[in-house]
Amino acid sequence: MDFAYTPEDEAFRTELRDWLSTSVAEFEHEPVPEIAGMTRQYARRKAWQRKMAEGGWAAINWPKELGGRDATLMQNVIYSQEMAKAKTPGIFNTNGIWQIGPMIIRWGTQEQKDRWLHGILYAEEHWCQGFSEPEAGSDLANLRLLAVRDGNHYVLDGQKIWCTTAHYAKWGLFLVRSDPTAIERGAKHEGITALIVDLTVPGITATPITDIVGEESFCLVTFDNARVPAAYRLGNEGEGWLVAMGTLTSERVGTAGLSITMKSELDNVVEWARTHNPGALADPELRDRLARAYTQIELTRLLNVRALSKVLKGEKGWPEVQIAKLQWSHLAQTLAELQVDLLGPAGLLARGGPDAVDRGQWTRLYSYQRYTSIGAGTTQVQKNIIADRAIKLPRK
Ligand SMILES: Cc1cc2nc3c(=O)[nH]c(=O)nc-3n(C[C@H](O)[C@H](O)[C@H](O)COP(=O)(O)OP(=O)(O)OC[C@H]3O[C@@H](n4cnc5c(N)ncnc54)[C@H](O)[C@@H]3O)c2cc1C
Repeated sequence: MDFAYTPEDEAFRTELRDWLSTSVAEFEHEPVPEIAGMTRQYARRKAWQRKMAEGGWAAINWPKELGGRDATLMQNVIYSQEMAKAKTPGIFNTNGIWQIGPMIIRWGTQEQKDRWLHGILYAEEHWCQGFSEPEAGSDLANLRLLAVRDGNHYVLDGQKIWCTTAHYAKWGLFLVRSDPTAIERGAKHEGITALIVDLTVPGITATPITDIVGEESFCLVTFDNARVPAAYRLGNEGEGWLVAMGTLTSERVGTAGLSITMKSELDNVVEWARTHNPGALADPELRDRLARAYTQIELTRLLNVRALSKVLKGEKGWPEVQIAKLQWSHLAQTLAELQVDLLGPAGLLARGGPDAVDRGQWTRLYSYQRYTSIGAGTTQVQKNIIADRAIKLPRK
């Protein structure tokens, strides 16, 4: 390993660990506020993010003057590790803190920063991201949600799909097609504009879609003559691709805590199996899968370390970052299957049932983790990139 933590990094870790050790325990005893139209889980996330923001820990990558900590890459790694160890609740504005906020900081006018950043940080209003469309997912630049300029407004018509929590969101960052001729000209990355949209204005409907586990986690969002102020545009007209990708591609190794979370979850299920299905731990086939899973978790940790080491030396995290994405989705699904099998018949008891083990979360994850093959770039598309750029396979 060719990196070390500086005294500043160690001080950062100590301060965070101290804050978490009191705050997580405190939070467990705080009542979850009831919020109309919001699940208990999201109401809890809202309260936790607010607490994090008050402690100065919600948006470590934002500048200090905006409530962040100007965190370095190593501090991001430490943050990810400590959050995983402390088993913190999730936050309310994941998109807002990690993607949309940084886009506003990088591209927004002073007025836009003043209007939106505080609300994102303190979880006052929920934010969603509207990129995918029925005909634009992996091929995102094919997006066609039409935005026609009309005086001081854009008039929006079309659809976005799979927008996570759009039904809770007041605001969203949407990519729209402001120049429809760009696709015909064979220049589809041009003519895209980034707009911040108030989802409560007339003409916008967010319809929840039931997902594989029966929850309503994402939405189809339809726009029918919806008027969005031109003052809500982020960056110049036609530069939406740059606005979105410039921020998304900034190199991060935020998955450092993943192996810690996975190992702790696996340990946890082994404990549940001791109580509910002890025979499983003597089964040679399950023991073999368990050993493989622990080995794969360690491999995931080492992949992240190697990517980090490269980035610290000023090299690209390539191809380790892409391989780590594939490894994560493979392992998340392998673990979910193993965990259900370890619990035996009890592993089939679904959420909500009185006898469900650990609130039925393992049965839920068995189906839910399928999403890891799709989100953050599908498995096939990641493999295409690796084949093309790392292995340099010939193109047909
Ligand atoms: C849980 C979840 C949350 C999401 N949240 C959001 C959100 O908040 N906002 C948002 O905008 N989007 C969101 N998405 C959408 C996500 O970004 C897209 O699903 C993803 O980009 C894939 O696009 P698609 O669904 O259109 O599939 P497609 O791109 O149509 O792909 C369909 C299949 O074809 C394969 N394929 C596509 N192109 C190629 C190729 N060139 N070579 C080989 N195979 C190929 C894919 O791998 C896949 O198996 C979410 C998705 C999920 C699962």
